[in-house]
This record gives sequence, C-alpha cells and structure tokens, in this order.
Amino acid sequence: MKIAVEGCCHGELDAIYASIQHLERVEGVKVDLLICCGDFQAVRNLDDLECMSVPDKYKELGTFYKYYSGQVHAPIPTLFIGGNHEAANYLWELYYGGYVAPNIYYVGHSGVVKFGDLRVGGLSGIYKYHDYKKGHHERPPYAGHAVKTAYHVREFDVFKLKQVKQELDVFLSHDWPRGIANFGNKQELFRKKKFLKEEVESNTLGSPPAEELLNLLKPRYWFSAHLHVKYAAVVKHTNNQSTKFLALDKCLPHRDFLQVIDVPDKSPEGGFTLDDEWLAILKANHEFHSVTQRPAQLPAYGNHEAVDINPFRNWIAERLNSIGPESRQPPRFSATRAAHDPLTETRRRGRAPDKVDENPQTRALMELLELDMKITAPFDGNPKDSQRFGPFGASLPPPPPPTRHVLVADDNEIEL
Ligand SMILES: [Zn+2]
Ligand SMILES: [Zn+2]
Repeated sequence: MKIAVEGCCHGELDAIYASIQHLERVEGVKVDLLICCGDFQAVRNLDDLECMSVPDKYKELGTFYKYYSGQVHAPIPTLFIGGNHEAANYLWELYYGGYVAPNIYYVGHSGVVKFGDLRVGGLSGIYKYHDYKKGHHERPPYAGHAVKTAYHVREFDVFKLKQVKQELDVFLSHDWPRGIANFGNKQELFRKKKFLKEEVESNTLGSPPAEELLNLLKPRYWFSAHLHVKYAAVVKHTNNQSTKFLALDKCLPHRDFLQVIDVPDKSPEGGFTLDDEWLAILKANHEFHSVTQRPAQLPAYGNHEAVDINPFRNWIAERLNSIGPESRQPPRFSATRAAHDPLTETRRRGRAPDKVDENPQTRALMELLELDMKITAPFDGNPKDSQRFGPFGASLPPPPPPTRHVLVADDNEIEL
C-alpha cells in the first residue's frame, strides 16, 4: 500500500490532490490513501467559517465545499484528524468519526479506523494544560474562548486510546509528541525554525499525552503537522520495536508538505472499516464521557487499566455477527447542511450556527452500539437535562452571550 502523508491541509484539497496526481504520473506510482494530519478545514459554507478559530482576515472558504456538495469527487480515499483550525461544529457532530464528504473520512476526536488491513489511530486537536481535564462543553455558536478551546485535547479522548492493545500501524496527532525532537536531527530543525530551540531544550515543545501514547502504543509510524516544518525521527522502544516519526509542512509551493510512504505488507482491499477493538472501547467508556465543563470522572483517577474492555469485546463480536459482515462498514456519508453556493451565499459575519446538527452517521453508530446520543443532548441549563449526561452532569451555566471571535493571546499557537 502506498500512503501519501500530508502535513496541514488548510483547506487546500484541490492543490493536494493535484500534487499527488502529478507525482503519480511522474513517478509511475499509484497512491492508495491520503492521510492529512489536521488543520483540514472541512468548511461546508460561510456559516461554518464562523465556527473556526482563525483571525478574521485569514478566514477563507477553501475548496472543501466542492467535495462536500458532490461537485467534485475526492480522487483518493482520504483520512484526516482535526487540528486547531477546523469547522468545530461539523467535526463535533461527527465526534466518533465518519465521512465528512464522499471518500473523505474523519478519524474522530480520537479513534481507530481501518483502511484495508492498515490500522490507524488518531488524536485530534492540540494539547493545552488548562483544558485537558474538562468535558467537551463547547457548542455552536462557540462564543468567546470556546472557538479556540473546542480544539484542545481532552483527557477522556486520550484515556480511550490508552486502552488500545492491538497493534497500530499508523498514529496521527496534529501537534508533535513532546520530546520527539530529541530523536532526530535537532540542529537541522533549529536552522529552519530557530524559535523552537528554547522549547525543545526545556522539553515544553509538543503534547505530553501524545508522548505517553507513543510510548504506550508503539505504532510503526507516527505522523504530525502543526509546526509547519518537515522533521523525521526514529524512537526505539524496548523489545526491538521502533516508531518512525514524520512531521510535514503545510501545503504551499516549494514546501515539504507531502511524502509518499510504501507499506508493502498492507493492502487497501476493502477500504475504510470500523475497528472491533475501538468499538468495544467506545462502548466501555461511554458513561465516563462528560459533555459539560465538568471534568470526566474517569475510574481510578484516569488509570486506563481500570477499565476492563473484555466483556465489551464479546458484546461487540456478538452484535456484529448478528448483523453480518456489512456491520463493519461505516455509515454512509450524508449532508447535514447546505453546501456553499458562490452565486447565492454571502458572509453573515458573527452568524455561526447555533445548534448541533444530528448527523445520521453518528446516530447509526450509537444505534449499532446501543448507546445514547450525548453529542446532541440538549444544553440549555435545565437540571433535568443534566441527568441525561449521566452521574457527572451538573446544572449548566446559562448560554454565553453571542459575542464572536474574541481571540485571546493566551497561548502561543501557531496561526496560519
Ligand atoms: Zn495547527
Ligand atoms: Zn497548520
């Protein structure tokens, strides 16, 4: 299997597919799968743009909407994770992953999915200490800080990934695992990005939970983006395993944004399918998922070994068997909002969507797993609703006033 790996996408799908097709012609290869490591910008229309954390002057629609509307078909199966520039409303309705457009699959806020017999895990967003333990409380219209914090990685999503026992071929994180720079040519990195030196030397560059996951899961490959620079490293684990790390740039002319990787022992046959072990993990952990500000009350203070997923593995096996082999097919793509129409849609500044849309794919997955729809649970401060969030719900704060894009310089995120 040949995989094209892309750093940040930043809405440039046309250019990325064109680059791959050019490369296929010149090199005489066929790429089976495109993987994008975040800042994908699955922006369907101008209202979605209002749910994306980007300074107003950089707000651009990009080309994704054409793939969403069906005007253009993605020529290569495409898999992506979220970064810190995304249509937060759209990715939230597909929290567990799914098709954002025909042939374009979102891993989820965290998840494991198969493409042929290639097993890929991923963690969306970027790490920020102050939001790590919180629940997923951000909702459209993402007023104030919520437009930024919606992309901050949550402990709950990492907790689930730590329960993965079966081998992963590839893992994706938008920001780099902390400490990874020490396993490659640092001097070369500092020549290209001088400002990273201090953070690397104080070991504050990158994501601590991603570092934990790298050491625990030991995937064959780990791909990242976010810092807009190419960087390769190899981490040797005990017992002769190693992880090849590669970070890539964003899609711009003359930049290292794309690399084709050959994984000869893997076949693309069968396309995207759901992963049995991950389904068991989703089922086993659903009750701990806080969708309010309240931290997720994880068992044993977040020690992932406290969750025994074995009974859930059996439940999943029986469930999938009873439905048949098609039960591993992800639910089909279906549009939940109108796609942008350049002739009729004009920008409604500050008019972000104000509710979570129920995505039929998420509904179908919850029905498969016999779980309730936490993603669209009402969020109006009614104490009765808190009961629906399980034992950890609490009375909710009133919805914030609809001010938009109060961007705060609270974190040194790399902007566009
Ligand atoms: Zn980024
Ligand atoms: Zn980026």
